[in-house]
Amino acid sequence: MSLNNLIKNWTSFRSRRPYLDQYKNADYKWAMVIDLDACTGCNACTTACYAENNLPVVGKERYEKGHAMHWLRIERYWGEGESVPVDMVPDRGAQFLPMMCQQCEAAPCEVVCPVGATHHSADGLNTQVYNRCVGSRYCSANCPYKVRYFNWWQYADTAWPNPLELQLNPDVSVRSKGVMEKCTFCVQRLRESMDHAKTDGRLVRDGEVTTACAQACPTSAITFGNLANPQSQVAKKWKNQQIALEKDEQKKDENLRGYRIFEEFRTYPSVVYLERVRDLEA
Ligand code: SF4
Ligand code: SF4
Repeated sequence: MSLNNLIKNWTSFRSRRPYLDQYKNADYKWAMVIDLDACTGCNACTTACYAENNLPVVGKERYEKGHAMHWLRIERYWGEGESVPVDMVPDRGAQFLPMMCQQCEAAPCEVVCPVGATHHSADGLNTQVYNRCVGSRYCSANCPYKVRYFNWWQYADTAWPNPLELQLNPDVSVRSKGVMEKCTFCVQRLRESMDHAKTDGRLVRDGEVTTACAQACPTSAITFGNLANPQSQVAKKWKNQQIALEKDEQKKDENLRGYRIFEEFRTYPSVVYLERVRDLEA
């Protein structure tokens, strides 16, 4: 793809999506809300994601080289302006933020893929076709959230020595060396429940399917659902926080805790975070 084509495609892509009422008549638009006030940083979601999506544990040495494979990571912050030396981590005051692919509506990763291995689905997912990926890693370079992970090794041969391969989820491919991967919103679960609902001649009901991370969270900090269904919990939370998918700046006051990360980049993420409420006097 030439640079001219790239810029042309990107411009037209950005002007097309998202747009007002894009999902008004759609059956599905998958989205998430993460309440940072409820998140305790326990990492149950991360562990569940490893188990559900056949993620390899890479070990300390490869992690230090930047070869981590965690589709969902817990970021830790210590409050604005607080400088904390690594050997003096305070006992309290940490804030946690689960970070995974934000399933952007105008995803910067999609337009730079030279083979169309990452693209958008009709139900609002940023998908990754492993068999098509040639490992250029342009998508990872262009993702502002740094949530794409490249397979530097053939983990399938070593990460699950016998009999651990029996724990692999048969609904999820074990990726091979040289391909890019990332959070899929547990697409295998979504497709299964959508197929069941279609067989029954109906739509997926709210709460009928959820992601592994949302299911594992002990404080219910993660809400997942269908934004195209106005009665879903996720749609109600978006509406209560006045988040509009096609808007890149939310109206905020002390009662509205909702925001999307890097909204000013106009990537229009499908993940909304609810700000942590801190009692600084306590
Ligand atoms: S968060 Fe990154 S990988 Fe996910 S859709 Fe957005 S740009 Fe692509
Ligand atoms: S939605 Fe699924 S794939 Fe994405 S972080 Fe949660 S458990 Fe992992």
